Amino acid sequence: MTKQNDNKVRIHRVYTKQVLEPEQEISLAGPAAHYLGRVLRVTAKDAIVLFNGDGHDYVTEWVRAGKGEIILLVASRLPAVPEPGVSITVVQAISRGERMDQTLQKCTELGAARFQPLLSERVEVKLKADKLEKRMEHWQGVVIAACEQSGRAVVPEVLPPLRFHDWLKADADACRLVLAPGAGTPLARSDFPVAVQIVVGPEGGFSDTELQQMTDKGIKSVSLGPRVLRTETAAPAAIAVIQTRAGDFK
Ligand code: SAH
Repeated sequence: MTKQNDNKVRIHRVYTKQVLEPEQEISLAGPAAHYLGRVLRVTAKDAIVLFNGDGHDYVTEWVRAGKGEIILLVASRLPAVPEPGVSITVVQAISRGERMDQTLQKCTELGAARFQPLLSERVEVKLKADKLEKRMEHWQGVVIAACEQSGRAVVPEVLPPLRFHDWLKADADACRLVLAPGAGTPLARSDFPVAVQIVVGPEGGFSDTELQQMTDKGIKSVSLGPRVLRTETAAPAAIAVIQTRAGDFK
């Protein structure tokens, strides 16, 4: 949320769901106001840049701090960092705790467009219906924090988890590539269109049956070299390969 530049003016990039228009006042309340006001002790000297996912940054001027809220004046709308040319969906079999968070954080930094959590055979996480909403809120929060930090002004969506078989049936026309250790074709030499889904197994990988079912659906297996990567390493590594090929890392 915070950046330090050479002149020691602190710039804070903060996400809000509100509509943002130049010359309008905005009230930040709740956790964002608490964090800025109480934790970071932001004052009129600091620069607060807001974004709401519409692809722009909104530079603000400090108006005042009230009880539990901070009032800002939206001064200008600026184009933010460009989004990648390739739209990458990360289909990630749900991994345990921190690992899933790392996947979401790193892949957001690297330019993923959206996330599809997947419940495959070897997923060890149990998601009861009453916990699901909280978990998804947490995941979306991790993605938003990664956008605040990395300068992205478009927030990747975290879709509701799908069971492997439901996901397999849906979206049959999409270009889907499953990352599989030992696959004959390297991702680095695969062709992909402007929208691609990369599919990553959980800690224990996909079962042979699942891999076969994906093959039967025309989903190509691709490898990321000879070493077996941890599940949270695979998706960021794949995005780096795709972004390099697509010319985004220039
Ligand atoms: N023992 C498991 C390892 C799973 S690693 C197995 O052999 O399948 C977790 C996931 O990371 C895998 O399901 C795969 O999607 C991805 N992955 C790990 N290393 C990889 C590699 N070298 N190439 C492609 N995908 C890889």
